[in-house]
Parts: sequence; C-alpha cells; structure tokens
Amino acid sequence: MTGVNQIRKTFLDFFAKNGHAVVDSSPLVPRNDPTLMFANSGMVQFKNVFTGVEKRPYSRATSAQKCVRAGGKHNDLDNVGYTARHHTFFEMLGNFSFGDYFKDHAIELAWNLITKEFELPVERLLVTVFSEDDDAFQLWKKIAGLPDSKIIRIPTSDNFWRMGDTGPCGPCSEIFYDHGDTIWGGPPGSADQDGDRFIEIWNLVFMQYEDQPGGERIVLPRPSIDTGMGLERMSAVLQGTHDNYEIDLMRALIGASAVATGVEPDGEHKVSHRVIADHLRTSSFLVAEGVLPSNEGRGYVARRIMRRAMRHASLLGAKEPLLHKLVPVLVREMGQAYPELVRAESLIAETLELEETRFRKTLERGLTILDDESKALGEGAVFSGDTAFTLYDTYGFPLDLTQDALRPRGIVVDTTAFDAAMKLQKDKARAAWAGSGETATDTVWFGIKDKTGATEFLGYDTETAEGQV
Ligand code: ATP
Ligand code: MG
Ligand code: MG
Ligand code: MG
Repeated sequence: MTGVNQIRKTFLDFFAKNGHAVVDSSPLVPRNDPTLMFANSGMVQFKNVFTGVEKRPYSRATSAQKCVRAGGKHNDLDNVGYTARHHTFFEMLGNFSFGDYFKDHAIELAWNLITKEFELPVERLLVTVFSEDDDAFQLWKKIAGLPDSKIIRIPTSDNFWRMGDTGPCGPCSEIFYDHGDTIWGGPPGSADQDGDRFIEIWNLVFMQYEDQPGGERIVLPRPSIDTGMGLERMSAVLQGTHDNYEIDLMRALIGASAVATGVEPDGEHKVSHRVIADHLRTSSFLVAEGVLPSNEGRGYVARRIMRRAMRHASLLGAKEPLLHKLVPVLVREMGQAYPELVRAESLIAETLELEETRFRKTLERGLTILDDESKALGEGAVFSGDTAFTLYDTYGFPLDLTQDALRPRGIVVDTTAFDAAMKLQKDKARAAWAGSGETATDTVWFGIKDKTGATEFLGYDTETAEGQV
C-alpha cells in the first residue's frame, strides 16, 4: 500500500521533474494578511505573485500546503465525522504557473500525473468545466480522450473562481473520482451530489481575466494556473477506499484513540474517534504555530476545536485528559514532513492536557444540564438559547459544541435567543464599566471588542482573496 507520505512525495517530485520549484507550506496563520484567519488553500502564499505585486525567482511552483477550513467562507467543521471527505485540517497539493504555462499544459500535467504516475483507471474519472469554457471542454477531449458525457458543464460560481471583488479570476475545472455504485451519491451537477460516490480530488483554476475596480473584466496577457488536490482524498483513492478516515494516517490516529480509550474504532462510537483524530491534527498544527486556546480570535477557534474533541473523548468514557496522549502518534506520522510538530511536541501535549484538565472541571456538569434540558425534546425541536448561553458562559461550552452534541438527535439551538443573551451580557458589562468612571475609554475598548468579537469570533474570513472554490 502506498502511504500518505509517499503520495505527497510523488506529487512534488512529479512537478519538480516538470520544472517546478518545490516551495514549503506557508504557515497556517497568514503573514501580512489580516483578512484571512487561516491558510485555506495552496495559493494563499502566492496571492501577490499572481497579482504581480511580488516577484519570485521562479515562474512555476509546487507545494504541499497546510490548510484549515473551520470558519468563514470555507467552513467544513460540521462536515467532520459526517462526510467521508472533509477534514478541518488537511493538506492541499498544488502546482502553480505564474504567467508561464496555461490551460493546455495544466490539463496535460494533471492527466499525466493521475493516469500515469498514480495509474488511476480512466473509466473512473470525470471532470467538470465552467459552462462557457469551450477551450477547457475541447482540451479535456483532446488531451485526455474523455467522452463528452464525462465532461460536465457547470454554470454556477462553483466553476468560476475569483480572488476577490477585483483581481485575477477565471473558470475552473474539477476532477472527480467515481468510487462506484455501492456508494450513495450522484455526479457533479446532479441533485444528489452530496453523497460520497463521486469525490472531487483536484481543482484546476485557470486565471485568465482580471476584474478592474470599475467593474470591467479584462483578458490577462499572461494568464496563470492555480491547482489544489486534497492529499487525503487522493490517498483514499490510491488505498482503495472512498473514505478519507480509512487512509493509513487517519487509521493510525483513530487506532491510538481506540487504544487510549479502550473503545473499538468502528463500532457505535466511530464518529467520536473520527472527530478526535481530525481535531487533534488541527489543534496540534495550530499550537505548533503558537495559536493557543483563548477567548478571542484565532485562539478561540483553536479552543472550540479542542473542546469539541474533548467532549467526544468524554463520550468515549475518558475519565482523564486524553488528547495529549495521542500527540506522539501524530508526530510519528507527520513529523518528518512537518518538523514544526517535532519541535513543538511538548508544547502541544502540555497545552492540550492543560486545556482538557481545565475543561473537564465544568464538562460533566455542563453535559448534565444539556441532557436534562434536552431530555424531553424530540427530532426537529429547538433547544433554549438561554440555556445554550449559560452553558457557554458558565461551563465553557462553545456554541458549536452544544450544537454538535444535539445534532445527532435532530435538535437545533435557538441562536437568536443565544445572540440576544450574549448582547445583554455585553451591555451589562458595558454599563458596569461606565459606572466605574472610566467612560472616556470604554467606548473605544468595547468598540474594539465588539469588532473583533471577543467571545464568539466568526468574522475574520472575508469573502476576498481565498484560494480554490
Ligand atoms: P468540496 O466541494 O468537496 O467541498 P471544494 O471544492 O470546496 O471541495 P477546493 O476549494 O476546490 O475544494 O479545494 C481543492 C481540493 O482540496 C479539493 O479538490 C479537495 O481535494 C481538497 N479539499 C477541499 N476541502 C477539503 C476538506 N475539508 N478536507 C479534505 N480535503 C479537502
Ligand atoms: Mg468545500
Ligand atoms: Mg473545488
Ligand atoms: Mg467543489
């Protein structure tokens, strides 16, 4: 079996052989980009190269990029444990052309890699193109020899990428793998495409236009290429499974969770093991970059993810902190590719243990309240927003943890009431502060707090400047 580490290497070697500079992943916390919470695609570190603001000594590059999608436009948090193909942390393999080669060579390279190097069976592959992109349609026919029925024209923004309101943009083409009719789900563009039968493995973006500030769209004289392939999805295909959580790397983490809890990995608690494995990766990579659990900004995203995993550890019967015990396995599996994990191993373990110790003090009591207050509720019922707020405020339950806990029973939280309770508390705090005589500074302070969302931070990730679609 070809392991994840080998597959990453095959990808990078292939593009190196084809004249691409191998570039390290950029950090998850983007440098010089306050609009974006975490790197969520391979192109993030090359944004200024695509716009021409920054010059690099190469015009072709390839990378394996650490990505986190747990908020903003790309929020895959709620998919974890429910779909076979989503993680909150994953690696995106990519090749990039900065005004060098374009559509024909990008398609040729992609096709050669997947059919010759990775030897995927051609009959399992199908692609989408933007409905107006006749060039891409013809190139797929010519280069790959795909029949018309396997080149699906998609008219929606799914197949048209834009960096932001202005800047480079263009059509894209997604490559799908058909895992076979024993798995539910329809092809892209169909009504039931949410199933896991047809899985998108690679996204090719053809940056051939630029949107001008006045709204005009011009044709770029030297168009560019940006692609993204999910390493875990490709590994699943190559390891003969449709399920990302079945690949060697994820099995190692799930196995460690099973050993540490004594709960079998594939039984009724399968989802909990998966959530723990996924969130362990995200938390560990964040801590390795110095993102520690806190009540605001990126730190709050880290805390939310950690605490969700910690509730699942408790569901598995863990009576003491669990997550830190899994760190050595993660470091063993990924430390060679990401030495920052090795360097930060003890910080990661200590941070997780401290956070879990702290959270466990209120976790059980919070869960009892959650159970008591939801006992009488059936599917489709609404859970009190006030109680969700008490859980948040007094027991340290992030809202999405409560939602995650109720979701399997089809119960939703009254988020309007939750927000109102949050606002009321802020107003009270503000009034108390005003009473202390510090009125000159309080508006400034609370203005900042409100803007940055000191408690439930959701508003970092703007609609601009994100990779892939
Ligand atoms: P999907 O439609 O399946 O959610 P996407 O179109 O949002 O995928 P892109 O933004 O095109 O994904 O990202 C490029 C590639 O990265 C995808 O083709 C896929 O292989 C991989 N990928 C995207 N999101 C995830 C995720 N949450 N977990 C694992 N791999 C992912
Ligand atoms: Mg997506
Ligand atoms: Mg895509
Ligand atoms: Mg997609």
